[in-house]
Amino acid sequence: MKLLEERIKEDGLVLPGNVLKVNSFLNHQIDPELMNTVGQEFAHLFRDNNITRILTVESSGIAPAIMTGLALHVPVLFARKTKSSTMNNSLYTADVYSYTKKVTNKISVDQKFLLPTDNVLIIDDFLANGQAVSGLLEICRQAQAHVEGAGIVIEKAFQTGGAMLREQGVRVESLARIASFEDDTVHFVKE
Ligand code: 5GP
Repeated sequence: MKLLEERIKEDGLVLPGNVLKVNSFLNHQIDPELMNTVGQEFAHLFRDNNITRILTVESSGIAPAIMTGLALHVPVLFARKTKSSTMNNSLYTADVYSYTKKVTNKISVDQKFLLPTDNVLIIDDFLANGQAVSGLLEICRQAQAHVEGAGIVIEKAFQTGGAMLREQGVRVESLARIASFEDDTVHFVKE
């Protein structure tokens, strides 16, 4: 997505450890118009998949997920990283190692919001080693929900997650694919 690539070039900051900081439009401050365009693009890509629910993980996945849910007219469910006191029902859970925070979170969703009849679209902000998406896939597996694919805002294609998921047969659609951060500059995969 050209608009997204331009924004990453303009505002993205390459940090040590192959981390891209995009907190002016995605990870802290959010650009709602850009997120709306992102949501419409995911909705377009998965328009024939009869998506019934969007699944993401808090917090940075929520903005693109909610715009996708709005465009597809389906509910948006986000896995929580900490158990809320209001979550008294049975949960589906998975362990997710965080690439940026170097901690393992137990993510969970209330069983009543994910059904075996669901056709799920997973949405996340970044794809690096695929831990977050794998955790969400595991939650869908427990719920016996069908996963139609994963929509990723920014894929770091030089890391292992994208290949690992595609080898498993998961349809992964990424709106910006980064080939490298050579010379602290963002280089995109040439399609
Ligand atoms: P993975 O689970 O695929 O290894 O990493 C994806 C998760 O880690 C995303 O949900 C995102 O929050 C975080 N993440 C991974 N790489 C980056 C990055 O370069 N920049 C930012 N801001 N977050 C990242």
